[in-house]
Amino acid sequence: MNLHFTPEEQAFRHEVKQFIAASLPADIQHKVHNGLILERDDYVRWQQALHARGWGGSSWAKEFGGTGWSAVQKYIFEEECAAAGAPRIVPFGVKMVAPVIMAFGSPAQQQRFLPGILSGEEWWCQGYSEPGSGSDLASVKTSAQREGDHYLVNGQKTWTTQAQYADWIFCLVRTDNEVKPQRGISFLLIDMKSPGITVRPIITMDGAHEVNEVWFDNVKVPAENLVGEENAGWTYAKFLLGHERTNIAGIGIAKRELARLKRIASQETKNGKPLIEDPHFSLRIAQIQIDLNALEITNLRVLSAEEQRRTPGPEASILKIKGTEIQQAITELMTQAVGTYALPLRREAMAAGYDGEHAGPAYASSLAANYLNMRKLSIYGGSNEIQKNIIAQMILGL
Ligand SMILES: Cc1cc2nc3c(=O)[nH]c(=O)nc-3n(C[C@H](O)[C@H](O)[C@H](O)COP(=O)(O)OP(=O)(O)OC[C@H]3O[C@@H](n4cnc5c(N)ncnc54)[C@H](O)[C@@H]3O)c2cc1C
Repeated sequence: MNLHFTPEEQAFRHEVKQFIAASLPADIQHKVHNGLILERDDYVRWQQALHARGWGGSSWAKEFGGTGWSAVQKYIFEEECAAAGAPRIVPFGVKMVAPVIMAFGSPAQQQRFLPGILSGEEWWCQGYSEPGSGSDLASVKTSAQREGDHYLVNGQKTWTTQAQYADWIFCLVRTDNEVKPQRGISFLLIDMKSPGITVRPIITMDGAHEVNEVWFDNVKVPAENLVGEENAGWTYAKFLLGHERTNIAGIGIAKRELARLKRIASQETKNGKPLIEDPHFSLRIAQIQIDLNALEITNLRVLSAEEQRRTPGPEASILKIKGTEIQQAITELMTQAVGTYALPLRREAMAAGYDGEHAGPAYASSLAANYLNMRKLSIYGGSNEIQKNIIAQMILGL
């Protein structure tokens, strides 16, 4: 195991830094560094900039127009993007459905869908969860009945992130009720403009419209939009979830936010001194820093194993749990640092170009919303309780 970056990897890091410095729009960078609201256009502009450089598919094989980067190169890229204040790559297209289409889709599906994902022109969302089917995904009920050359889809998906922006949704649907639940699921690609689809916003406790309910009422989906074989969708679903969990530790983001926490704690005061000099507060920052350093080493060990062609196993669950706990702890300390100024929840003060008053320092206006929003990290992408079960069974053998 080698935890040091090679000269080639260091040169690559330099190249990534230079590209970001030249290509990341300043207004987007400002929003990310200050926890302001990002819109569809911000994500699309960044994806387009990456695409123009040939880096739109950082995790894709070259044959599909991707970079063909190694696991370490992907890590360096994501770390530098996060540090510089680039928006996260919206995962639903590039990192989730695209690998499934590449591995199991028909050549016609690959030609139809992959270019739009790479260029950022087509926005995807994920239709897995339903009321009553989140952790227990095998119990999905949304049905797809084959009728000649199309499926008729009925049911409801929930928690669908950014479905309000989406052109397409990939869905787990039930195509057989008579077999073991896992054996009767199929994987369908559905045009969000299809008649019979209704998107209803769910406003989360931070006041944001990020997630939705998606309803299907006799939606006709061409049979050619079935990925792979009918009733084999569970295999593709699990393959996708494996991709969903890569880079889940969020080391780069945590480093950026920890630096922001230190900046805030240097500006806030306690008993006439910078808060960062307060022994109790600085101890808590130090604890997070130590946890983050340890997690980074663990992440590098996983990457090193991946380089030797060992696919990441249950240790991905450790990265998910610890990575999300660290990000949540950072936002918790940020809100505590500004005290009562974090109490007002005013989303208008988080919009770029807002020139009204702030209750306290401008940087405090986004902290409450960010704190509340970060509670989701330990739920989505496979909740932390489920990850602990995986560790108990597969690592500890309990
Ligand atoms: C902000 C947000 C965005 C999301 N975006 C999407 C999206 O875009 N597309 C999509 O398909 N889904 C999305 N999800 C859904 C997410 O994947 C589910 O919320 C998650 O899988 C948990 O399922 P659930 O909500 O049904 O909770 P449940 O499965 O009902 O779990 C409730 C609680 O019980 C615990 N629990 C359940 N089973 C066990 C067990 N066996 N052992 C121990 N504890 C257990 C859980 O960990 C959790 O704490 C999103 C969720 C959130 C919060």
